[in-house]
Amino acid sequence: MLKMLLATALLFSQPLINEEVTQSHPNTRAYWESTGGVVWEAKTKEKLIALTFDDGPHPVYTPQISQLLEKYKARATFFVIGQRAESYKTLIQDLSKKGNEIANHTFSHPRLGRISKDKLLDEIKRTDDTIYSLTHKHTHLFRPPGGVYNEKIITTARTTSHLVVMWSWTQDTKDWSNPGAAKIANKVISHAKPGNIVLFHDSGGNRLQTVKAVEQILHDLTEQGYKFVTVSELLHKTGKNVPAHR
Ligand SMILES: [Zn+2]
Repeated sequence: MLKMLLATALLFSQPLINEEVTQSHPNTRAYWESTGGVVWEAKTKEKLIALTFDDGPHPVYTPQISQLLEKYKARATFFVIGQRAESYKTLIQDLSKKGNEIANHTFSHPRLGRISKDKLLDEIKRTDDTIYSLTHKHTHLFRPPGGVYNEKIITTARTTSHLVVMWSWTQDTKDWSNPGAAKIANKVISHAKPGNIVLFHDSGGNRLQTVKAVEQILHDLTEQGYKFVTVSELLHKTGKNVPAHR
């Protein structure tokens, strides 16, 4: 309980979104970054990168990715769909035991454009409960389906103590469109910079290309001296005041 209170206090020690300012704010990256409610990447000179996987877990591809991460002593963040986590409980437990971060990507992956605040709250809370029941860790990271963000989504995430996590604009692999493993890998490797957050998907179709690309990326960027950390670790190490993933 104390841990939770401390975590909440830490999160809200950042400047809160000012209600008056939000009346007519531009819904831009610069604005939301300035409020501290959303991150796209981290500012650091350390060779740290956060790989993230959305829409899982998947019984075939998630374990393959997990094995590769282990092989390269890497950790990643999995933005899971709550109802899939319920279906594949041991996958989540295994990922978490290996030091990966399990984060919130809603319970049923609804379209967020016109979702009500209550429905979104329910989606986030149910997924939080699922993640906690499986990992005994609270997640404070939320990634909205489709990367949709607006004031309602961000403030709703905020009221449930979540930071909204997007991805580096240069690191959207579009792996869901199966562009080829080499293309996915080249995109990430050629754009790699300290503090990047990379977007992949470990579910939602045949993700063999993603698995192959991840192996290439881990191999090449490890040789270049990069370390692969969770989003929470990346943000902590770079001074962003988010609660520890405990
Ligand atoms: Zn998604």
